Amino acid sequence: MDLKQKLVELLEADAVSNEPEVLAEHSGDKWFAAHEPEVVVFARSTSDVKGLLQFASAKKIPVTARGGGFGYVGGCVPARGGIVLSLVQMNRIKEINFADAVAIVEPGAFTADLKAAVRAQKLFYPPDPASMKDCTIGGNVATNAGGPRCLKYGVTRNYVIGLEVVLANGEVLRTGGRVHKNKTGFDLIGLFVGSEGMLGVVTEIALRLLPLPPARATLSAAFATATQAAAAVQTIFAAGFLPASLEIADHFTLEAARRDLRKMIVPPGSAHLLVDLDGQGESVRSEAEAIRKLLAAKKPNALEMATGEADCEELWALRREFSNSLRATGLTKLNQDVVVPRSHLVDLMEFAERLHAKHGFPIACFGHAGDGNIHVNIMADQYNREPAVRDKVEQALDDLFAQVLAWGGVITGEHGIGLAKKRWWPDATTNAVREVHRKLKHALDPDGILNPGKFVD
Ligand SMILES: Cc1cc2nc3c(=O)[nH]c(=O)nc-3n(C[C@H](O)[C@H](O)[C@H](O)COP(=O)(O)OP(=O)(O)OC[C@H]3O[C@@H](n4cnc5c(N)ncnc54)[C@H](O)[C@@H]3O)c2cc1C
Repeated sequence: MDLKQKLVELLEADAVSNEPEVLAEHSGDKWFAAHEPEVVVFARSTSDVKGLLQFASAKKIPVTARGGGFGYVGGCVPARGGIVLSLVQMNRIKEINFADAVAIVEPGAFTADLKAAVRAQKLFYPPDPASMKDCTIGGNVATNAGGPRCLKYGVTRNYVIGLEVVLANGEVLRTGGRVHKNKTGFDLIGLFVGSEGMLGVVTEIALRLLPLPPARATLSAAFATATQAAAAVQTIFAAGFLPASLEIADHFTLEAARRDLRKMIVPPGSAHLLVDLDGQGESVRSEAEAIRKLLAAKKPNALEMATGEADCEELWALRREFSNSLRATGLTKLNQDVVVPRSHLVDLMEFAERLHAKHGFPIACFGHAGDGNIHVNIMADQYNREPAVRDKVEQALDDLFAQVLAWGGVITGEHGIGLAKKRWWPDATTNAVREVHRKLKHALDPDGILNPGKFVD
């Protein structure tokens, strides 16, 4: 009997597919690797996941969990075939409880839907990946996703207070719960958050929520140089302010936006800062005014301030178009998510210019200046068609990652390792760290059936 037939006996018939288009749709994410599974299973309950993993571990069949398929590192690519386990049909928001400030959700809920549902109850789930309309909360947990607001509020890990995880052998583990503080044993939640589907399949998540800040302000400032913009970032912190987000964009990114967004005004200059504040109305207004004065003293080329959701979003519209404008150049945008200690922000941008000179690829830098997490986008021509171009990109990335690590930075702050950064996993870790990863993987998944072929084999 073939695999599909066996799975149909285990689950409902329409929960299993080996139709060619379904296999193709579940072979990759937003990175460049793809590999077709033998079968796709759409789980509808924890007991489906449990039954499937009991079966797969007995037969030693690879199982790769998949959320929205909007990862940037090939994390959900079923590199060794077998079964893709899609969680998108487990998408219920089971509870939003104002008194406990907790949400209980299934992994397939889209992040934007969860954020909106929580907001409707005057609560706030801060992590805000740019992909939030298309990625799932389960995928966010598995990659420990971040976003602009993580400067003030922290990343996904800071909001997960309880998990239900089905282990490789089908055992259901529940850890944490609906309390905001908990020190019962090891931090197992921390172990599963960011584990990229290699230690277990997340089937339910309890999230800590915050009161919704009623007011917001945004400042947009353009500077002649990146050095001036980075100095402004340090000045804001030195004056004791912690903005919700603090975003920077470089010359190449702004030029691409100028060419692409003719109708939208891109402020003059070679570096752009966006500063967001939130909280109570009066304090937001007074903080925004104080930061406006600090920025004005730095002699920006342009400076604007907005209050209220709609006007703030107008200033953010430019930032939200950067990725599209870079794609409109016709080049392939290879998005990296390195993090450097904040003092190396300008060094990183200058280094990107040297990489351009050495390897010939234009490089666009923009992202989360406040926490040193910058999207360094290598803009490559013919990346998909020419193996020689791909080799050259890898050499440029060798240089970039070596320099970032030498500054005490990391090769990924948001997207994870997956397949895309497997080559640099040994450079980014010590032997001892890799050995602990191997031991943990072996303890939880002795047959290596969960998402095999990735950085811990
Ligand atoms: C345009 C764009 C913008 C982006 N912006 C951001 C950003 O601002 N911040 C950020 O952090 N990331 C960003 N990303 C990356 C990506 O969206 C995140 O990594 C996101 O968390 C992936 O979620 P997903 O549901 O699409 O997961 P998938 O791509 O389906 O899977 C990602 C990983 O999670 C595992 N997984 C998925 N669900 C489960 C589960 N239930 N149990 C166990 N493992 C599971 C998979 O096996 C895989 O390893 C962006 C990507 C794109 C394409």
